[in-house]
Amino acid sequence: MLELKQIKKSYKTGTFVQHALKDVSIKFRKNEFVAILGASGSGKTTLLNIIGGLDRYDSGDLIINNTSTKKYKNINWDRYRNNCIGFIFQNYNLISHINILDNVEMGMTLSGVSSKTRRRKAKDALKKVGLIDHIHKKPNQLSGGQMQRVAIARALANNPDIILADEPTGALDTKTSIQIMELIKEIAKDKLVIMVTHNPELAKEYATRIIEFKDGEKISDSNPVEETEKENKEFKIKKTAMSFSTALKLSFNNIKTKKGRTLLTSFASSIGIIGIALVLSLSNGFKIEIDNFEKKSLAQAPITITQQTVQMDKMIEEQTNSKELKKYPDEKRLFVQEDKMESMMHINKITEDYTNYLKKINIKYLSGIAYERGTNLLLINKDDQNNYNLVTTMNMGISSWTLLPSNPNQEKEGVVEKLYDVIAGEINENEPGLILQVDSKNQIYDTVLETLGIQNKETVTFEEIMNQELKVILNDDYYLQKGEFFYPNQDLKSLYNNKNSITIKVQAIIRGKEEHEIITNGNGFAYTNALTELIVEKNKNSKIVTAQMGKDYNILTQSPFDETMTKELTLGYLGADTIPVAIYIYPKDFDSKEKITDYLDKYNENKEAEDVIKYTDMASMISSLSGNIMDAVTVVLIAFSSISLIVSSIMIGIITYISVLERTKEIGILRALGARSKDIKRVFTAETFIIGLVSGILGIVVAYLLTIPANQIIENLSGLANVAKLNIVHATTLIIISVVLTVIGGLIPSRVASKKDPVEALRTE
Ligand code: ADP
Ligand code: MG
Repeated sequence: MLELKQIKKSYKTGTFVQHALKDVSIKFRKNEFVAILGASGSGKTTLLNIIGGLDRYDSGDLIINNTSTKKYKNINWDRYRNNCIGFIFQNYNLISHINILDNVEMGMTLSGVSSKTRRRKAKDALKKVGLIDHIHKKPNQLSGGQMQRVAIARALANNPDIILADEPTGALDTKTSIQIMELIKEIAKDKLVIMVTHNPELAKEYATRIIEFKDGEKISDSNPVEETEKENKEFKIKKTAMSFSTALKLSFNNIKTKKGRTLLTSFASSIGIIGIALVLSLSNGFKIEIDNFEKKSLAQAPITITQQTVQMDKMIEEQTNSKELKKYPDEKRLFVQEDKMESMMHINKITEDYTNYLKKINIKYLSGIAYERGTNLLLINKDDQNNYNLVTTMNMGISSWTLLPSNPNQEKEGVVEKLYDVIAGEINENEPGLILQVDSKNQIYDTVLETLGIQNKETVTFEEIMNQELKVILNDDYYLQKGEFFYPNQDLKSLYNNKNSITIKVQAIIRGKEEHEIITNGNGFAYTNALTELIVEKNKNSKIVTAQMGKDYNILTQSPFDETMTKELTLGYLGADTIPVAIYIYPKDFDSKEKITDYLDKYNENKEAEDVIKYTDMASMISSLSGNIMDAVTVVLIAFSSISLIVSSIMIGIITYISVLERTKEIGILRALGARSKDIKRVFTAETFIIGLVSGILGIVVAYLLTIPANQIIENLSGLANVAKLNIVHATTLIIISVVLTVIGGLIPSRVASKKDPVEALRTE
C-alpha cells in the first residue's frame, strides 16, 4: 500500500533553508478520499509531489506495495507516475497545442497503449466527465470548469489507483467547484484520492478523512489507519516508453502553432542545402557534358604500345615525393637528386608472342589495329625534269609514320571511315600503296611533295598527286656485293626501271573528321598493310640482311646513309623487320576500350617486371585530368556552401533552445504523466528532425527550381542545353545531411530539456 515514513524535505535558496516537510508519517488506505488541509506554504503541494513521485524526499521512506522506494531509480519513478498516479492540478496543466482527446490519451500514449484502446479509454473518461461533445477542441476553447474536467478525465483515463489533486477547484467559482467535487467523489469510490484544499467546508462535505498540516507538519488526522487494519491489494506498475512517432506527433502539432517561424527557420537553414545542391547539379551536369564530349572525340583515340614508354604513374609519384625541400632556399649549398629518368622509362619487348596475343583480341571490341614497322622503304621518284631521285620514307616529312589501321571486322565502318573523310581516290588495303593524309587546311609539308617528285609548288591538284608514280627498290637490287663489301647501286634510272621494283601510287587522300581533330591532326603518308607485308616478305632472304645477321659484313654507302650510320644499320632500315615498333589499337567505343585494356593487362599477369608490356591510354589520361579539375572546383564550392550549413545548424540549436524554454510547462506535464527524461529528449529531437527534414526538402525544391533559370543562362552563354541536373542520389543525401545536422544542432537544447526538474517545470507559466 502507500505509506509515508518520517519524510523530510527541505529547499535551499542561497543560504536559506526552507523545511517544507518535517518528519511526516502517514499511512493511506487503498480506497479512501483524503483531504489535506492547511494554510498556504504549509507543505501540502510538496507532500503531494513526493507521493506522486514528481519530487524526491530528503530522508525517511515512501512505501509502495510494501516496498521501500529508497532504491528507486528515475525509471522506476517514471513508471510509477505513469501507471499508479493521476494528477489533477489547480491550473489544469493541459497541453495547449493538442486537442482534448489527445490530451486525455497522452498518459496512455506514453505507456505505449495501442491507439485503439487508448481512444476507447479516453472517450470513456471524457464521457464520464461529460465532455464527449468537445473532444476535438483545443484546451483554450473551453471554460475553466471544462478544462478541469479534461484534467480529471486525463487523470482517470489510464485507470490509476491513486488520484492526486492539488486544489482542483482553486480557480473555479462555487457552482463549478461543487460539480467538480461531485465528480471527484464519484472517482473516490474505488480509488485512493488525495486532495489538497484550503477550503475546510469542501473537505468536510466530501472527504472520508481529513489531515491537517501546519508548517510542514501533520497536526491532525481524522481517520488514521489502525495497526490492526490489513490490506493486501497491490498497485500495478507497468513500463513506459514514448515512441518516436508520438514524439513526432507532439512536435508536429507544436510546430503547427508557429508555422511562420518554422518556415523562416527552415528556409534560412535550407540556404546551405540550396548552395550545395546547385553546385552539385552544375558540376554533375558539366561532368556529363565533358564526358560526352570526350567520349565522342576521344573514343576513337588508340591505345598505344611503343617500344619505349615513359611511365606516367612513376613520373607523377616522383613529382609528389620530392616536396620535402624548401623552395628558393637562402643556404649556400646544393642538394643532390637521384636521376630517376632511367627507371621511369620502360622498354616494351614487343615479341611475336605478343603480336600473336593481340591477334586474339575479340574483334567485336575493335575498329582497327595499326602496326607501325621500322621498315624504311627505299624509294625512287621521277620528277617533272625527268630526274631520278633516291628518297627514303624518312624524308617523307611526317614524324609519326603510321600504317593505316586495318579493319579486322571487314565492316564498311572501319576506323578509317570513322576518323577520316576520304576526299580523293579510294583505299584498297589489299593493294600495296600509299595514302596521303592532309591536315584540316589541306596542307602537306614540302618534303612530302619532294618525296613524290613534285617540287617548288605552292598548290598541287589531287590529280597530280595521284598520278605520280614511285618505285620501291628491294635491298638486293640496291646493295651490290663485291667480296665482303656491299655498296649502293648508283644507277637510279635502271633501278627505277628494274622489273623487281614495285610501283606504288597514292591511292587516296584522307583528312581527319572535324570532330576527331584532336587525334587525327597532322599530315604525311601512311602505307597499306599489303605494302608493308610485301616489302617485308621480299627483303626477308636478301643477301644483305643475311650478311648483316651473320655480322661479318661491311657496307659502303653514300646517300642516303652516311658513313657513321652505316654501322648502325638495323634490319628495320633494311626493310625486313617483322616486329612492329609501335602498335595502335583502335577500340570500337569507350566500353570496348576497357575490355581491351583488361585483355592487355591480363598479358602482364605473372610476368617479370622487364617483360611487362605497358600501353598508353591517352584518352583516359585526358579525361581523368579534366575530371580531377572539375572535382577540385566542386570541392571548393561545396566547402563554401557548407559554412552556411554549419551556421544554420547553430541557428537551429538556438531556436530549439528557445522552444525548450517555451515548452517548459509541457515538459512538466509530460513528466507528471510519466514521461521519462529520455522521452522529453525525443520530443525535441523530433522537433529538430522535422525542421531538418522541412529545410532539406525545401532546399532541394528551391535548388531544383533554380536549375531552370540557371540552365537558361548557361544555354545563352554556351549553347549547352540542360547542363544543371540535380541527381536523385545527391538530393536524398543532402536531405539526410540536413536532418542529421539539425538534429545535432538540437542535441544540447534537447538535453537541457530532458534534465529539467519536473516540479519546477510545472511551476513555470
Ligand atoms: P503549499 O502547497 O502548502 O502552499 P508548498 O508545499 O508549495 O506549500 O511549499 C511549502 C514551503 O516550501 C513553502 O514555504 C514554499 O515557499 C517552499 N517551497 C516549495 N517549493 C520550493 C522550491 N522549489 N524552492 C524553494 N522553496 C520551496
Ligand atoms: Mg500548494
